[in-house]
Amino acid sequence: MNALAATNRNFRHAARLLNLDSKVEKSLLIPFREIKVECTIPKDDGSLASFVGFRVQHDNARGPMKGGIRFHPEVDHDEVNALAQLMTWKTAVVNVPYGGAKGGIGCAPKELSLRELERLTRIFTQKLHDLIGVRTDVPAPDMGTNAQTMAWILDEYSKFHGYSPAVVTGKPIELGGSLGREAATGRGVIFATEALLADHGKSINGLTFAIQGLGNVGSWVARLVHERGGKIVAVSDITGAVKNPNGIDIPSLLEHKEETGSLSSFDGGDSMNAKELLVHECDVLIPCALGGVLTRENAGDVKAKFIIEAANHPTDPEADEILSKKGIVVLPDIYANAGGVTVSYFEWVQNIQGFMWDEEKVNNELKKYMTVAFNDIKNMCQTHECSLRMGAFTLGVNRVARATLLRGWEA
Ligand code: NAD
Repeated sequence: MNALAATNRNFRHAARLLNLDSKVEKSLLIPFREIKVECTIPKDDGSLASFVGFRVQHDNARGPMKGGIRFHPEVDHDEVNALAQLMTWKTAVVNVPYGGAKGGIGCAPKELSLRELERLTRIFTQKLHDLIGVRTDVPAPDMGTNAQTMAWILDEYSKFHGYSPAVVTGKPIELGGSLGREAATGRGVIFATEALLADHGKSINGLTFAIQGLGNVGSWVARLVHERGGKIVAVSDITGAVKNPNGIDIPSLLEHKEETGSLSSFDGGDSMNAKELLVHECDVLIPCALGGVLTRENAGDVKAKFIIEAANHPTDPEADEILSKKGIVVLPDIYANAGGVTVSYFEWVQNIQGFMWDEEKVNNELKKYMTVAFNDIKNMCQTHECSLRMGAFTLGVNRVARATLLRGWEA
């Protein structure tokens, strides 16, 4: 099932549990605005190249729309649409005053030079500048984009509207980025995991973990689990996988990856088939890489007792049903990986205040937001007798529906 079909299915299930009016349901499902633009740039060799860019602005009932910009060859409209909708529910779950959006350009960033990437980003910004803004739609980095991309957007947008650091988040610190933003999604995953485990009378210390993906999110998750005494028995990335029943020395593994660019030839464990990571013996499985990795084909073989969805949409709805029947507890993406957007909100607040917080304040506030959201989700689970995924969806959808109704329909 593709990401849009799965997201719509979860939304409709939540709408039924909430007994949502059918007109409100329809209005929440249809995006506020969908933008498609053509971006033509001169390449370094003087030839022209054209790329298609999208921005889907899903909902703004609770505040400016918020979501990443992805540069990837497979960026397509349906996926951007699903991710924009997920952002609406995610920002509502953690109760930051935003709606949801997502965007992207269909391109292979690794095949473009730095100058070509800069030109492409600036052209995209020129086409969007009237439709994004500090109080309208605030982009952030996503796959294939980074703090440098945000710096170019800030600069191009500021040519039209005056200096506007709050128009994007995930910026370099020198341009108003927040301390703690780089680690925020991974740190948020850890706070979410701690809240879930505490609810089951457990803690990270002493449990075994398997982690898929060692990029921005996965490397922070691995580092912080290790620091808290969790035993990481398997990790994988695009280059391979490593296992060690006695626990992998994560700082050494990250150093090895930094030096060699690969997990292979690491001598602190045995290499394994990366596909087996998801069904490896462990207490807690944390997918931190791609979407759609847990399917009806492998869900029956999962041995973990808890799954923390650090990646976006790692579990198909069919897999969800199988995992639930097996009694495996799944902490859903729209809560588990919301630490990134929460600290993006702190960055926006700091830019508007013109005042920089220290990292301790950022991390303490993040912990508060993640802990309160977990308790709010649990309350919804009790009210609607539902899974954590439906607890999170009903929480997010209900907050957006209430905001929509309070704002009214009069034109
Ligand atoms: P990233 O590009 O930094 O890292 C992705 C990692 O996945 C890399 O280590 C890569 O080697 C690995 N990977 C790719 N294919 C793999 C495969 N087949 N098997 C095993 N590993 C594989 O990306 P990221 O920013 O860490 O994001 C990871 C996930 O978290 C994505 O689903 C993203 O949408 C989600 N997410 C990220 C953020 C954020 O702030 N970065 C916020 C919310 C959600």
